[in-house]
Amino acid sequence: MSRDKAIRARAKAVIPGGMWGHMDVAALPAGYPQFFASADGARVRDVDGNEYIDFMCGYGPMILGYNDPEVEAAFRLQHAALEIANGPAEVTVDLAETLVELIPAADWAMFSKNGTDATTACVTIARAQTGRSKILVANGAYHGAAPWCTPRPAGTTLEDRAHLIHYDYNDMESLNRAMERAGPDLAGIVTSAFRHDIRRDQEMPTPEFARAMRRLADAAGAALILDDVRAGFRIDLGGSWEPLGVRPDLSAWSKALGNGHPIAAVTGNDRFRDAARQVFVTGSFWCGAGAMAAALATVQKLRRIDAIRHMVRLGGMLRAGVQAQADDLGLGLRQSGPPQMPLMLFDDDPDFAKGNLFAVTALRHGVYLHPWHNMFLSAAHTEDDIERALVATQQGLDAVARQFPPT
Ligand code: PMP
Repeated sequence: MSRDKAIRARAKAVIPGGMWGHMDVAALPAGYPQFFASADGARVRDVDGNEYIDFMCGYGPMILGYNDPEVEAAFRLQHAALEIANGPAEVTVDLAETLVELIPAADWAMFSKNGTDATTACVTIARAQTGRSKILVANGAYHGAAPWCTPRPAGTTLEDRAHLIHYDYNDMESLNRAMERAGPDLAGIVTSAFRHDIRRDQEMPTPEFARAMRRLADAAGAALILDDVRAGFRIDLGGSWEPLGVRPDLSAWSKALGNGHPIAAVTGNDRFRDAARQVFVTGSFWCGAGAMAAALATVQKLRRIDAIRHMVRLGGMLRAGVQAQADDLGLGLRQSGPPQMPLMLFDDDPDFAKGNLFAVTALRHGVYLHPWHNMFLSAAHTEDDIERALVATQQGLDAVARQFPPT
């Protein structure tokens, strides 16, 4: 029996379902390992010793490479001096200063641990500032696992979501309708950096839609809240909507901020400073100083090495290579979203049978892809990794073409 199988059997007995949340591989094709033993650079190794070039990056947190020496040194130094005490370490202010300098929309920053902490705090701050209730969110968008936003409503009450009003991403008419429904009670509009809902093509925001959101929020005196948890630091270090010229009032960050160390941030402008002071948000580990030092080192290195340019270039290589392979085989393959956060979906694949076969075949050839969740490039990926990955994607596409011959 494989070690993964043995650990899964033990897990079943002591963890409900064997695993919770987004890291439960039950929804992935058989063959995906559940448990991992080590990771380094752009490689992960499962508990059975299989090594993969990783295009999930821990679902986003890894952006400079696992075990990045600079980040780990900064973490260890701070952690050894002070991790948790009766108050935060100075590095907390260093990090806040750095983010305020880096992010044009930010006049202040606060820190927590998870993306959900940050998106939830944004909503709370928007309500505290406006004294209103309604929050606009896009249909299908993921903003975390708290009762107000979890995609699986088990255990939540209708009241938890009573003040949510939905719109469709990039759809002006639906946004206008949602605004009308909110009326004078609108506290905030939540938007993702781009449409990265699972199991469907990704969509960049149109500049018109982004500008309309800003205009409507201003006209209503409500907050524009950017959920940059997933895309943050991969599109633009100043915030994912900087290239659009649209600045949010409040932004939620996490994932890549600490290159794998647990940290999240809310940044905001001066209009929301008082409300951010009023709300009571905290946690026993939210001042964990090691993660602050790791985040500071991560942000500094991302800037110094121009990591985004590297990720865009390698993501572009992967995309062009896979597309050429699919085209040669006559397979309909759609790649969407920014190249550094790729998603590959097959035409006529309602149950993801093609996508699953593609991904699991690539996995067998040492490349960890995802069949229906966006993937992530990192600064640690090399051209050689992309070339090796393309050997595996060729195998995956060949398998799809054999089992589902293009007509
Ligand atoms: N918002 C977005 C866009 C996310 O992708 C995620 C995590 N996948 C979250 C919020 C929640 O973050 P966390 O899982 O760290 O609570």
